[in-house]
Amino acid sequence: MEHSDTNNQIDAFKSAISESKRIVGFTGAGISTESGIPDYRSKGGIWDKFQPVYIEEFISDEGKRVLYWQRKQELWKDLSNALPNKGHLFFKHLYDEGKLAGLITQNIDGLHEKSGLPKDIIVNLHGTNLEVTCLDCGFTVPAQDVFGRLDLEQGVPLCPECSGFFKPNTISFGQQLRGEDLSRANDLAVSCDLMIVVGSTLVVQPASSIPSIAKEKGALLSIITLSETPLDSYADFVFHLKVDDFITIFQS
Ligand SMILES: [Zn+2]
Repeated sequence: MEHSDTNNQIDAFKSAISESKRIVGFTGAGISTESGIPDYRSKGGIWDKFQPVYIEEFISDEGKRVLYWQRKQELWKDLSNALPNKGHLFFKHLYDEGKLAGLITQNIDGLHEKSGLPKDIIVNLHGTNLEVTCLDCGFTVPAQDVFGRLDLEQGVPLCPECSGFFKPNTISFGQQLRGEDLSRANDLAVSCDLMIVVGSTLVVQPASSIPSIAKEKGALLSIITLSETPLDSYADFVFHLKVDDFITIFQS
């Protein structure tokens, strides 16, 4: 795309934003790479180097539980230092303008929460690393409370309420997405007038069907992501740019 074409598209996209009343964001790993969060599901990501721990293994095998917690401990060091970037602040700004009805994310890094968006408008489709939850009774605590005193030599952390297994509150391999989250995401998709996808390649189902639902129900669809997506030909605005580069052009 020629530079001037990009600028024309950006102008049209800005008009779409100013005319819309109910924007919904949909974000994937690409929005967080500028914050130093590894895109762990992509090729060369950390799950390429390590065998994933499936939920069945976590439940049945103490060794796998320790391994899982060791990896999460490593990841926590990155996550607890990571700060929201221009992409997250773009959505926070839309919220401050009263335009953002909801934010659906495939990310588990909690950076939308850190940007200041209220928790109740965020749908964490793949769960969140900001919480630790009990697999048996659902008792949930802030992750900091567990990681701050995690000592795996003493064993994996257990629920103080029922002694069930504690696990970071993310969707593990072998676990289904939560019905409640999918239904909230669906409600947002059918009721928005503009869906803005940032940093998702839209290939992980069923999450990736959400932007199609929005479009089918009459919303405009905008996709801002470095690589091509299966919905590009269907979208109203497509910007194949790094999030940071897009925001720089958008703000200029
Ligand atoms: Zn419990």
